[in-house]
Amino acid sequence: MCKGLVFHIIHGSFVDGYGIRTTVFLKGCPLRCLWCCNPEGQRSIPELKYEEELCNGCGRCLSLCPVDAIRMVSDGDTAHVVIDRKICTDCLKCIGGCFTGALDQFGKWYTVDELFRIVRSDLPFYRASNGGVTIGGGEASMQAEFTRAFIRKCRENRIHTALDTCGYTPTPESFACMEEADLLLFDIKGLDPAAHLANTGVSNDMILANFKRMDEIGKPMIVRFPLIHGYTETDESVERIADLIAGMRHVERVDLIAHHEYGKNKYPQLGMEYTMASPEYTDEQLLRIKQEFSRRGIKVQLGG
Ligand code: SF4
Ligand code: SF4
Repeated sequence: MCKGLVFHIIHGSFVDGYGIRTTVFLKGCPLRCLWCCNPEGQRSIPELKYEEELCNGCGRCLSLCPVDAIRMVSDGDTAHVVIDRKICTDCLKCIGGCFTGALDQFGKWYTVDELFRIVRSDLPFYRASNGGVTIGGGEASMQAEFTRAFIRKCRENRIHTALDTCGYTPTPESFACMEEADLLLFDIKGLDPAAHLANTGVSNDMILANFKRMDEIGKPMIVRFPLIHGYTETDESVERIADLIAGMRHVERVDLIAHHEYGKNKYPQLGMEYTMASPEYTDEQLLRIKQEFSRRGIKVQLGG
């Protein structure tokens, strides 16, 4: 039976204009954006999560690790463990010995029916607000078979679906996920091919081709445009993206997502390092960027 690897479910989320929603986040992503706020969504496997501040140094996990990736360190009165991520295989065997919650996992497997039962519990909210289900990640189309089956299940039950996508779909099945969803929250992370490759790890050729194709077939879209200092928010970048969207017919709105550090605390939980500096945007800067879109007749807002 087809199963999907889900790392987060948020009840009562919103997409402006599309009511109260439940958002499910699927693991696995072909991009590695430097500013990623969901690093736990990047890899396509369940991963070990470790929160050092919850560790009481009991040591129960040490003998559970088959590859000796866990080591105890003591600094005077207190002790805690450290995980050698170069050795750790994410087998997750150590979690069972930890009673404080310091060790846990990112990602659990669900069947379509199991996940649907969870989102269906919010049905009265969807019906009352013209809301529905948002499928994000990671990049949900990486788990194409599951995502398509889940979208169909929602549709059979008259639940609106929005797919939050980076638009990078290397297989026909992943492309079909975009076709199946009622609404696309389409991330556009810059038009310059070399800068896109440097900042996200992939070329934007396929992404932009898919973006135009979705417009051609009439798919309703909300563009999510991250403002990244020195990259996407330069005058030239903003003008080029605004020009592109001005020529499209099915982009309902552009949501400007100013770079934030909400996901920064999750990097050490995965043994990863967060390297992006996050500048504050002034009201004047944000207004200037908004005006580049609005003066072309594009509906635009800050945040989504
Ligand atoms: S998840 Fe990593 S640290 Fe935990 S038991 Fe497995 S290999 Fe060891
Ligand atoms: S079992 Fe949990 S609390 Fe105990 S040492 Fe290991 S991580 Fe820390």
